Amino acid sequence: MLSERAKNIKPSPTLAMDAKAKAMKASGVDVVNFGVGEPDFDTPENIKEAAIKAIRDGFTKYTPVGGIDGLKDAIIEKFRKDNGLEYAREEIIVSCGAKHSLYNIAQALYGPGDEVIIPSPYWVSYPDQVILNDARPVIVKTYESDVFMLKPEALEARITKKTKAIILNSPSNPTGLTYDRKALERIAEVVLRHKLYVISDEIYEKLVYDGAEHVSIASLGSEIKKRTLVVNGLSKSHAMTGWRMGFTAGPKEIIKAMTNIQSQSTSNPNSIAQKAAIEALTGPQDFVQTMRSEFDRRRRFLVSELNAIPDVSCITPTGAFYAFPNISGLFGKVNGKPVFSSSDLALFLLEDANVALVPGDAFGDDNCIRLSYATSMENLKKGVERIRNAVGKLK
Ligand SMILES: *Cc1c(COP(=O)(O)O)cnc(C)c1O
Repeated sequence: MLSERAKNIKPSPTLAMDAKAKAMKASGVDVVNFGVGEPDFDTPENIKEAAIKAIRDGFTKYTPVGGIDGLKDAIIEKFRKDNGLEYAREEIIVSCGAKHSLYNIAQALYGPGDEVIIPSPYWVSYPDQVILNDARPVIVKTYESDVFMLKPEALEARITKKTKAIILNSPSNPTGLTYDRKALERIAEVVLRHKLYVISDEIYEKLVYDGAEHVSIASLGSEIKKRTLVVNGLSKSHAMTGWRMGFTAGPKEIIKAMTNIQSQSTSNPNSIAQKAAIEALTGPQDFVQTMRSEFDRRRRFLVSELNAIPDVSCITPTGAFYAFPNISGLFGKVNGKPVFSSSDLALFLLEDANVALVPGDAFGDDNCIRLSYATSMENLKKGVERIRNAVGKLK
């Protein structure tokens, strides 16, 4: 009964793990949840007020499919100010979250026979969105010893006549890697030589640490800009995951195709959320810095605690809000059942220690697990203590 497409797709594993932890919590178990991929901060008051005002003003009808001009202009100004990028309105489209932006891109660009390069560890939706559009994900492994950075020669080795695009994510979910300008320049050189497109997911742009600088690959020159679709949104920067506000900037023919596709699926993103998004982009920005400082404090605590656990090692992430420790030193150890994979360990920690986290195999790296530190310091302390005790029982 189901289409081949539907049969080939799996639900988002991070959301599945989150649902399991929430269900345990609802049944009365005291679960510490490191699985969540969203800020634990509330959406700032000024943004909520803008939405309430939009409702009161009756701004509750269809809008232009790709977003209202006022929001497009705020996004254009954001790119100018933060990234040194100049775009016109017809080079911008607003969608129902950055995940939707990425999906529209997949629909507009990929087709049967196309190959799309995805460095691993990758964000869970990239390969499935490629598969959903009848193209083939080509996974290029990166290594912990390179802080998970894609090397240009590793990229080039996997390019064929069918390669259409590469998906880059800096700062990265799940590794926390932030690409520096030099690394991006070398990747851009390969992309241009082979006439590929870059899908640059920059959703964690505002969350960088230890002096790391976020650089958009599109800003490296006019040629690479013509080949880049920059994806960004407000979910992570302004604690607005539920509002569903994402946007794309890129060449106008592609943006136009994405707008046509969106016009036949969701129509415009929510009108009220669009007004809230204007306030998020143009109102006071101190919230972003407050949240970033708090994440930074938690990051340093969590990474040092993880490294103090025997047989666990964690590189220091410079972006996003995840730690991605290597736990392969525990493989082969036993407590009742043996641990042979990241999923075995995640299940053991959930059942034995009531700690929820996401196994690395969901991101294409079975040697690691992902812990989100978008949770309170108190939870972090309790959670790492439980992990240390549980891991100590593995012999
Ligand atoms: C959270 C996330 C997104 C999507 O966010 P939306 O809520 O859909 O805007 C996209 N990419 C990465 C890497 C993410 O972690």
